[in-house]
Amino acid sequence: MELNNVKNWLELFTTKVNENKAYLSDLDGAIGDGDHGMNMARGTTEMQAAMTEKNPETIADTFKLAGMTLVSKVGGASGPLYGSAFIGMAKAAKDSEDLVTILEAGVEGIQKRGKAEAGEKTMVDTWLPVIEALKAGDLTTETVEAIVEKTKAIQATKGRASYLGERSVGHLDPGAVSSGYLFTTMIEAEV
Ligand code: ADP
Ligand code: MG
Ligand code: MG
Repeated sequence: MELNNVKNWLELFTTKVNENKAYLSDLDGAIGDGDHGMNMARGTTEMQAAMTEKNPETIADTFKLAGMTLVSKVGGASGPLYGSAFIGMAKAAKDSEDLVTILEAGVEGIQKRGKAEAGEKTMVDTWLPVIEALKAGDLTTETVEAIVEKTKAIQATKGRASYLGERSVGHLDPGAVSSGYLFTTMIEAEV
């Protein structure tokens, strides 16, 4: 794992989120409060600004700065959740350059903070199967997209979408979609 690839990854993720800001908010409008695109666009833009300003020199410091910025700059649930992911990844990156190990620490951070298990229609439903696919040597952009698509069929039992009960079925989970961007850009950046 190379520092430059990690920085490039976060930059590609920021661009992808900002390009799809309206789409992410529309998805959230259907089963939440319509701000996921706004939250993620603001958070990732602040994250990039912090990267330029602080220019972290290790992978661990890069993830840590990403996490701290997302926790502090995003109002919605997704900020602390993505923030916890990156902070977990930062800790793991101190001792390991193994992508699976690092991503596992990331999803652990999300689950510690949000208490969501698999199958509750959250970003966890992207993270867990993506890590499984990576372990199996089968992680491609198409795999990520298929994983995200599966969140449509789930009834939400965590987050705002859970208030809708069975009316949450048939809609993509916005956080699962933004996490899909995180992983397709990870592939693109060859992290
Ligand atoms: P808010 O719901 O506060 O407006 P966002 O709209 O930015 O926050 O983020 C919503 C997304 O956060 C959901 O689509 C879901 O993926 C994710 N999410 C919500 N609650 C949890 C949780 N407890 N664990 C994991 N992810 C969650
Ligand atoms: Mg929302
Ligand atoms: Mg909100």
